[in-house]
Amino acid sequence: MKTMTCKQLGGPCDLPHHGETADQVIKAQDRHLKDVVAGGDPAHEGALKEMKRRWRHPIANMEWYKQTKRDFAALAED
Ligand SMILES: [Zn+2]
Repeated sequence: MKTMTCKQLGGPCDLPHHGETADQVIKAQDRHLKDVVAGGDPAHEGALKEMKRRWRHPIANMEWYKQTKRDFAALAED
């Protein structure tokens, strides 16, 4: 397992996400952004918009995705 924080994934807080793959932590971040924004946290709105924009434009998103995968690969195991 590895850990990436909300902040490392483009968000504003230090909440850690744990996963075996970059895809798992990206999905966890996606859920986290939706949850906290639904809960009324304005600090995460920008990050949620970015995430939604990425899903709508998968080609433009590819560089971010690849970079996130590289960052994840470079992390030490928990
Ligand atoms: Zn967060």
